[in-house]
Amino acid sequence: MTGRTLITPTNKYRDNDKVIGVGNAFWDLSEHNGLAGIVADLDEGLLRTQSGHEFVNFSCCSYLDLDSHPKIIEGGIDALRRYGVLDHCIARSRVQIPAMLELEASLGELFGAQAVCSIAASTATFGLLPLIASGHLGNGTRPLMIFDKNAHVSMSTVKPVCADETEVVTSRHHDLGFIEDCCKKYARVAYVCDGSDSLGGYAPVKELAELQEKYGLLVYYDDSHSVSAYGQRGIGYVRSHSPVLDERTIVVATLNKAFGTSGAVILLDGCSQQTLRVIERFGGALNYSQLLNTAAVGAGLASAEIHRTAELTTLQNRLYHNIELFDSLIQTGQAGSTFPIRLVPASDSTVVEAGRRVFEAGFYVSPVFFPIVARGTAGLRVMLRAGQTEEQIRALCSVLTEVGAPSAAAAPEPVR
Ligand SMILES: *Cc1c(COP(=O)(O)O)cnc(C)c1O
Repeated sequence: MTGRTLITPTNKYRDNDKVIGVGNAFWDLSEHNGLAGIVADLDEGLLRTQSGHEFVNFSCCSYLDLDSHPKIIEGGIDALRRYGVLDHCIARSRVQIPAMLELEASLGELFGAQAVCSIAASTATFGLLPLIASGHLGNGTRPLMIFDKNAHVSMSTVKPVCADETEVVTSRHHDLGFIEDCCKKYARVAYVCDGSDSLGGYAPVKELAELQEKYGLLVYYDDSHSVSAYGQRGIGYVRSHSPVLDERTIVVATLNKAFGTSGAVILLDGCSQQTLRVIERFGGALNYSQLLNTAAVGAGLASAEIHRTAELTTLQNRLYHNIELFDSLIQTGQAGSTFPIRLVPASDSTVVEAGRRVFEAGFYVSPVFFPIVARGTAGLRVMLRAGQTEEQIRALCSVLTEVGAPSAAAAPEPVR
């Protein structure tokens, strides 16, 4: 048909042509090599496909293996019985059963913060960042919003929404100089980043705190990868190290990784009742979408109880022990860190083939390459967990060596 208008997108903050154009080829290649679209039953820590292939998952983020802990399973069942309802569908700002409030009280006590739960960290971020953009979560002044270039997709995807409320820019990774320059220029600045990156490494929490003290910078951290796995009572990296725990620091974390349950928690400090109400009423899906169901709440309460006991430290130490064992066998850029993720470098052209051979040997590790990671930084992403056995880790590492991973014997002293 002629004469009808075709739309030219602005693609200022997102570009599906680019993302799908480059990314889909990667997914097709992964699936073609049996490394995506896998369906398998889980039994005693081993996965088994319908065709009978057994493997250990070395790319699962349940770092402490709490998701199958008997107390957490029981906690879910117990709460379902106690509340007698899975969910009571109505916006929480109108009517709610006290289940999620019970979990929020428990998590608030556990982490020493004001805790607000949501069904996912993604949902929390989608609710909170636009409120930060408009200044309603903060001091009332619209901030320049700086998104770290590596910010997890759950955050970067909210850029266009924030950009309708304020100015949005993307910074290089942890570019403190750029952030400080912006602080000098703008009345208010908010910086959005991961507390612990999905490819290893932590945020420069102390240096950011200096900017917070000096300029009133607001920092929004997604600490999903370190909550439970790191720190006293599993408080996570950011809250273990940030000297600024007040309204200038907002932490969101999934409960679906090391915490071992479902949902997410927002950790706030010094927030007025009024602000908490604004979050509850205007935080988008935090209000209109479903709450954590009672099974998830009960599992969360049970996990929080485990976090209060010495068992958490035992599990964390087992995780660290496994990380050290891995580091003693395979050389990676993350060696020596407490972070549970290791990227075993490989080239863009060989990484999927390497992943396929490792899978055939009985281990799943996800191949990552451009555009999941920057060009030239492809590799196999290995995640260590508390529940993996020494035998499994040693066996994985010998297969990794066979497919070309550098052995740690040749490694320089790790940087701590
Ligand atoms: C895994 C992950 C998420 C997703 O968490 P959900 O609670 O499932 O939305 C969000 N952010 C980061 C940094 C993650 O690693």
